[in-house]
Amino acid sequence: MKNSADRIQALPRYLFAEIDKKVREAQKMGVDVIKLGIGDPDLPTPDYIVRRMQEEAARPENHNYPPDDGLREFREAVAAYYGKRHGVELDPDTEVVPLIGSKEGIAHISFCYTNPGDVNLVPDPGYPVYGIGTLFAGGTSYIMPLLEENNYLPDLSVIPEEVARKTKLLFLNYPNNPTGASATSEYFEQVASFAGKYNILVCHDAAYSEIAFDGYQPPSFLEAPGGKDVAIEFGSLSKTFNMTGWRIGYAVGNSEALEALYRFKTNTDSGLFKAIQYTGVEALNNPEMVPFLNGLRKVYQGRRDVVVKALKEAGWPARSPQATFYIWAPVPKGYTSQSFVAHILEKTGVVITPGRGFGEYGEGYFRIALTVKEERLTEAMTRIKEAVSFQ
Ligand SMILES: *Cc1c(COP(=O)(O)O)cnc(C)c1O
Repeated sequence: MKNSADRIQALPRYLFAEIDKKVREAQKMGVDVIKLGIGDPDLPTPDYIVRRMQEEAARPENHNYPPDDGLREFREAVAAYYGKRHGVELDPDTEVVPLIGSKEGIAHISFCYTNPGDVNLVPDPGYPVYGIGTLFAGGTSYIMPLLEENNYLPDLSVIPEEVARKTKLLFLNYPNNPTGASATSEYFEQVASFAGKYNILVCHDAAYSEIAFDGYQPPSFLEAPGGKDVAIEFGSLSKTFNMTGWRIGYAVGNSEALEALYRFKTNTDSGLFKAIQYTGVEALNNPEMVPFLNGLRKVYQGRRDVVVKALKEAGWPARSPQATFYIWAPVPKGYTSQSFVAHILEKTGVVITPGRGFGEYGEGYFRIALTVKEERLTEAMTRIKEAVSFQ
């Protein structure tokens, strides 16, 4: 067999391999390892959603190929949700595309827009898929550093004019993984005006739009004036409804861009299982969504407070995020993000993520995911407070 394609060989090495190995060794030695690494919800999908899936899975008429453009009922449910939640009107026929999880659309949008030689603007630290999609399409990522002093928002004024002119896509993600930062509608408006000036398509990843605290309601990019002219937004049921394994999401916004994405998708995949799309309708339309989400936010908020309080008690004031289920904080002096994570694991059996895993500007930081029960989180933080010196 010949070698795999250059684009596969160009994939970055798996940064967590060394940590994974240490975890396996610790477990073999009988250490009670607490994993605060991966951002995958520990709680189950709510019953009202699972019940609908059970019914729909049993219907033979759901067992064949779904329509290419997704079920109208699901597109309508997404549009109705945007109307209610964001005051944004969407045409379910032209402004909503169902996705097999938002990662799928995020990875594929570069194939729809980015030619070899084109530039995509990619935030760093960030979800790796923006850069990977760009790489696969043969484009070049121009890094937008997310710096603490800018509240982890890209500074558009430092992007050189000649880069902006060559740019096809600008990726953004608020509420942000990994930094936990949020963006205002005013910031989105600035981005929309920058994008309008250089004919750039903004691709906003809103995976954490419903995981927010203290009454905060993260805005949609499409709420910004002119938002829909320059942007599509990726949404996901994964984090909102503890449905990461179900694979259901959507893209909404600019119809021309969505048409390109839809055309790509009809030629590479055959859409989502109809039963899952009907279940998505249930998730978004059922009034039980409100109490469910309020409960979920309360759980993460409680966990957030446990971690932030413990870090503070350890002499390490970390930002308390308004949204997402991540705590992002600098590592103490004398450590790299990798060596600090290894040190914590060795001393406490707690696994956290090195910031470097999210890009070069993640160096010097660590991320704690709030995706274990509060008592386990409390146990983890007690161990860290006792065994780790932050000074
Ligand atoms: C989890 C996550 C997603 C992926 O969600 P799926 O819909 O499950 O593919 C997208 N973006 C970010 C930033 C995430 O953390």
